[in-house]
Amino acid sequence: MIVVMDLACSTEEIEHASAALKAAGVSTRRAVSDARTTFVAGSAPAGLAERMRSLPGVATVVAPADNLRLTSRDFQAKDTVVDVAGVRIGDAFVVAAGPCAVESESQLEDTARMVALAGGMMLRGGAYKPRTSPYSFQGLGREGLELLAEQRRKTGLPVVTEVLDTADLDSVLDLADMVQIGTRNAQNYALLREVGRSERPVLLKRGMASTVEEWLLAAEYVLAEGNPNVVLCERGIRSFESATRFTLDLSAVPVVNRLSHLPVLVDPSHAAGRADLVAPLALAAAAVGADGLLLDVHVDASTALCDAGQALDHAAFGTLMKSLGGLLGGLRRPLAGALGVPSVLTAEPA
Ligand code: PEP
Ligand code: MN
Repeated sequence: MIVVMDLACSTEEIEHASAALKAAGVSTRRAVSDARTTFVAGSAPAGLAERMRSLPGVATVVAPADNLRLTSRDFQAKDTVVDVAGVRIGDAFVVAAGPCAVESESQLEDTARMVALAGGMMLRGGAYKPRTSPYSFQGLGREGLELLAEQRRKTGLPVVTEVLDTADLDSVLDLADMVQIGTRNAQNYALLREVGRSERPVLLKRGMASTVEEWLLAAEYVLAEGNPNVVLCERGIRSFESATRFTLDLSAVPVVNRLSHLPVLVDPSHAAGRADLVAPLALAAAAVGADGLLLDVHVDASTALCDAGQALDHAAFGTLMKSLGGLLGGLRRPLAGALGVPSVLTAEPA
């Protein structure tokens, strides 16, 4: 918390503010620059920022919301790195890619091979799908999880997949390396608490109508249960604009990077809903400070059973991976290397 005194305040008011900080038991450093006094205080107890604001002679108090605790940089200044079976999110730039939905063994196998060979570091794919219409393909469920686990074995890529319901969490924890909470469940507090009771890394999407604060508070639920392994994911918010499926809020990335130590990925596929917009948005996400990307890719994008219009095909994904390498090199931020593509993948499929 930072307490900035008014330029015209009196010495008594400065001492009064200093005493109030001391009485609250927070460690405080005092700085005087151009005749203005500023207090930089350590982790502040709930309510202190409000009390400081009300004191005479105080010009501004900069403090995270009182209810952001474990997610806040006040709690932990150092960036969190979440280790997903050897892929360190928050360290080098990570690309997780795969089909929106797991559809069949051959679809997943061919797509996973394509991801691994192009340099993707993690495999995504939904076994349980949250579809807007109950008549749309709902995913293969447990069978989809088993297909993902099989491709993890074959490619070496750690798997991230969504859990919709606490009833399916044990199955997902059995077979996946990272549990995704989708935008529609971003404020399902029972589910957030339940994933918080495991230690498995959690990919927490932003609710499509959540403010940054509400999103961080959702993460707070997971951390408060004891699971520190949370990666945030910006995936677009609902706005008046209909040219894209959602409005990708790229400003949320540097905002979150200032407020929180948690890593943040960007999903340009679900935001744009259009494959032709994915590459420019992905590059923008890298430039604005995201820790990586979550991308829909499909070996035969036009036939995808879910979100066909937004999946990148082999060529588009390969081109994007090359552009990302160039951009990140220019920014002096490394693109994470794949964990090592098993040699069985370097041969053409039979
Ligand atoms: C997904 O990533 O498969 C998905 C359903 O995303 P979102 O929750 O962001 O819509
Ligand atoms: Mn989708």
